[in-house]
Amino acid sequence: MAKAPRVIVAGGGPVGLYTAHALAKANIDYVVLEQQSEIIRYKGAGTVFLPQSARLLDQIGLLKRIEELSTRLHKKTNSLYNGQFLVKFRLFDTMEESHGYPSLGLSRSQIIETLYEGLPERETRVKPNSRVIDIETNPNGVRVYLSDGSIEEGSLVIGVDGVHSRTREVMDRIIRESSDGVADKKPYPMVTHFQAIFGRAPVPKGVDIGHFYEAHGNGVASQVCTGGEYVYFSILRKLPAPTTARRRYSDKELEEEAKSFADLHLFPNITFGEIWETANHDEISLVHLEEGIIDKWYADRIVLLGDSVHKMTPISGMGVNTGMQSAAVLVNQLQSLFSSNPEPTTEGLEKAFKTYQEIQEPICRETVTQGEMMTRLITWQSWTGWIFDRFIFPWMDLEGRINKQFAPIISKAHVLDYVPFESRIGKVPWVNVPKVQA
Ligand SMILES: Cc1cc2nc3c(=O)[nH]c(=O)nc-3n(C[C@H](O)[C@H](O)[C@H](O)COP(=O)(O)OP(=O)(O)OC[C@H]3O[C@@H](n4cnc5c(N)ncnc54)[C@H](O)[C@@H]3O)c2cc1C
Repeated sequence: MAKAPRVIVAGGGPVGLYTAHALAKANIDYVVLEQQSEIIRYKGAGTVFLPQSARLLDQIGLLKRIEELSTRLHKKTNSLYNGQFLVKFRLFDTMEESHGYPSLGLSRSQIIETLYEGLPERETRVKPNSRVIDIETNPNGVRVYLSDGSIEEGSLVIGVDGVHSRTREVMDRIIRESSDGVADKKPYPMVTHFQAIFGRAPVPKGVDIGHFYEAHGNGVASQVCTGGEYVYFSILRKLPAPTTARRRYSDKELEEEAKSFADLHLFPNITFGEIWETANHDEISLVHLEEGIIDKWYADRIVLLGDSVHKMTPISGMGVNTGMQSAAVLVNQLQSLFSSNPEPTTEGLEKAFKTYQEIQEPICRETVTQGEMMTRLITWQSWTGWIFDRFIFPWMDLEGRINKQFAPIISKAHVLDYVPFESRIGKVPWVNVPKVQA
């Protein structure tokens, strides 16, 4: 009898945990390995689920819980660093009318908590304190070595372990070794041009709930979104020079960075200095924001997913949203492969990984490029960008543009092929629907 496939998911972040749900729904055996001691953490960072992600959550039965925890977003306001109003438009309402699903603001820890709490057999399937340090592949499977000396065995590894992915490093080594030691000399594709301070504070008086605020300036930009009882903020600053180095900031550097933004108006009538007073400083972080996309998404029995493949600044709000789409596409390929062949060869697996990359790479490249452009536009990295942002953009038909530019892309979003459900529908029908009927 053929041995049942077992998938090892390296990384228990939002995309790793969504992948776990997709595998569970496909009845594929799996384990999630997370290096941290706690699965539910990161109180500070806010995230917006766009309609295509709300639909994925609806399909796995978690949308109701996410809707209870989150704030439904309606409009977006752009202003200047000094609070001067630029434009207000129905960004999220327009998307909801088109696609039938809302955009939802909530914290990263609430996303992780909901995905984790909703996962069947989570205590045995998700293993904290499990840092992947090495992977060995053979014609029949993989052996994953953990920092505590233990070993996990399976059929393949999905590396969803973030921008500094250890899985990606191991995969690169395998590629180098299989090409007779000819190292890939291409420069490291994930480069940091911006850093960000981010965290949360209680919702201040006078703030419109369900509103997304963005402030623009020379080399800086901020975003704030309400999610339940908190506002989640991030403030970007352009670095003096791009770098590929990893950087950890001290508490003193964080405090100095925060103080330098005291006069920045996060909202047209409220400064960051006022928000800083009410925030819990332990929940505020200062990090590098890498950008880029890698060329090779798989090798042998290893495949990459999420921020380990495509990374952008939070300005376009697409990191989790894109990662979940990629996860759905990848697990669709695995489910289809395993249902006809539970013990595929390495070549069989690579064929499925290739199809996954072919489907997702064009849209991910476009998303990364768009994110880079948006980040540079609102931080005024060129005169033309400054003129466009300040004087042309506010006078454009923004809702018409959302319908023309974003709706065709969102309508092509993926779902799990093998999970029937009654999808909500808006003015623009979904192109991809499950292959099985509800
Ligand atoms: C301030 C801010 C706001 C953002 N807002 C949005 C938004 O509105 N919308 C959006 O779509 N995106 C947003 N993003 C981006 C989003 O957070 C990321 O794209 C997303 O977290 C990527 O998920 P992931 O699971 O691929 O990787 P990660 O979130 O990085 O998770 C990787 C996991 O792998 C674990 N890990 C790492 N190495 C190992 C190892 N060797 N062994 C085992 N486990 C390991 C890590 O501990 C971690 O839990 C935002 C980011 C920031 C900083």
